[in-house]
Amino acid sequence: MSLILVLNAGSSSVKFALIDTSQMGVERDVARGVFEGIGQVPRWSAKRSDGRSFVSETLPDGYASTHQEAVSRILAWIDLQFGLGNLKAAGHRVVHGGRDFIAPVRIDALTVAELKKLVPLAPLHQPHNLAAIESLAVLAAELPQVACFDTAFHATMPDVARNFALPRALTAKGVKRYGFHGISYAYIAHELRQTEPELAKGRVVVAHLGNGSSLCAMLDGRSVATTMGFSALDGLMMGTRAGLLDPAVIFYLMRDEGMSATEVETMLYQKSGLLGVSGISSDMRILRQAASLHPEAREALNMFSYRIIREIGSMIAALGGIDGLVFTAGIGENDAELRADVVNGLGFAGFSLDADANLSKTRKISGSTGPGAFVFPTNEEVMIARETAAIVQ
Ligand code: ADP
Repeated sequence: MSLILVLNAGSSSVKFALIDTSQMGVERDVARGVFEGIGQVPRWSAKRSDGRSFVSETLPDGYASTHQEAVSRILAWIDLQFGLGNLKAAGHRVVHGGRDFIAPVRIDALTVAELKKLVPLAPLHQPHNLAAIESLAVLAAELPQVACFDTAFHATMPDVARNFALPRALTAKGVKRYGFHGISYAYIAHELRQTEPELAKGRVVVAHLGNGSSLCAMLDGRSVATTMGFSALDGLMMGTRAGLLDPAVIFYLMRDEGMSATEVETMLYQKSGLLGVSGISSDMRILRQAASLHPEAREALNMFSYRIIREIGSMIAALGGIDGLVFTAGIGENDAELRADVVNGLGFAGFSLDADANLSKTRKISGSTGPGAFVFPTNEEVMIARETAAIVQ
């Protein structure tokens, strides 16, 4: 076995995957798990690739109250199950690579120092990503570590798509559109090349629709435009995030409603989007169930698809037309009704829906004429493992 530990560290959780990369291109899931409740009541679990449980444990209060304790517990478990000798490297999901990190990179002390400078660009995510990196550096100093960036895939965007219409001095300081979900987009671009090679060379819009949602316009598998911007708050409406918003609303809230910057930030990140509009939930499954009884849930669902359709229109303009549309992530892969609304809403661009295919989870869900519409499962963990293995070899 040639195991890669993939870590995705958030504020109170560390998601992890163990992936066997002995055969590149056909990576094998060995285990996936999550450590949750860091700082509260910690619990953790891991499952095999067939869904059977490896371990599921709630820890005594106070245990694993830091990222380092969580990572330590995961390492000890790997040692017991597989032997640390089989662990070749760790790959981290790092949200922000700034202007300089435009490809995965082997981590050393200098890299950590550079990544720390990017904390102000992603204050809610970057510190936790770094906590996992620094924990591993202490606990397993010899283990090679690689950082994979959510921003890197969008490094190919032209300036006209990347820059805001702000004074040049700010652009020079890095106040720009970076875009996110790049690890998922890189995986989809690879899958497209494997399965739809002709389409992969063309004009494709990928819709990554999960708790966080964004679109990427790809030309020959490279990003030329995306909906997320300087932060992961921009663009589409999301589970709890507002997405695209007139910035004057923020001045109004601070000046006239007396909200602090932190209060506005919390509202836009955590209390808006599907949750804010419905007043019920950020989860599409719950909103679907609630929609017949609660007009607010229906309104939230309608807004969600309306804004996806509008922004896809913008991506089509950036691409000068469209050859294919790909749905991915939790909502994109599972919510047939949302896909139907979007594809039907794109009739103006020549799309048509194969309703049976859409319900039966086949890859191609469009009719025989017009651009193709597809559903591709994403796999960010495999992408990170693949890139990590490539770097350490
Ligand atoms: P994250 O951005 O946290 O990785 P995911 O990609 O897992 O999120 O997507 C989570 C979203 O997917 C949630 O809104 C959830 O409601 C939605 N989802 C998951 N399964 C289904 C389903 N069967 N039908 C509709 N939505 C689903």
